Amino acid sequence: MSGPSPEFLRHMKGMLPSFIKGIAEKVAIGRGIKAPKRLSPKKVCTLCTKLFDKVEVDAGKEPPLEMGRCPECEEKLKDGFVAVVAPNKLAFVKSERLKDLAGNTVQVSAENFLRIQQEYLNNWAPENAHANKPAGPAR
Ligand SMILES: [Zn+2]
Repeated sequence: MSGPSPEFLRHMKGMLPSFIKGIAEKVAIGRGIKAPKRLSPKKVCTLCTKLFDKVEVDAGKEPPLEMGRCPECEEKLKDGFVAVVAPNKLAFVKSERLKDLAGNTVQVSAENFLRIQQEYLNNWAPENAHANKPAGPAR
């Protein structure tokens, strides 16, 4: 064996840039090499605006967000709360006076939201105070 001829080496040298470029493209495009998957939320909660329902997607291929209700909000509504929604505000309210609306979403103006919040603090909270007491060992 006398080793590669000078012509062969010259030929290889000439091929090198495109060879390297080919490898770089392979990595970038992901041919044969899987692009990293990532978890991307596919739903946005219409009540609390939380992103949820994460699915595995190819990087850069995030699906458009669907509207929905996150499990936490769904749970509250099932629990008999009324979701009071105002621009950029959300409150879950549970009251005898709102029992006909239990499990529903009520859209109100920002002003009405403040009124409801105030009224809740003034009049409604005591009737739920007992239920809101954190459970714990008696002392
Ligand atoms: Zn939510």
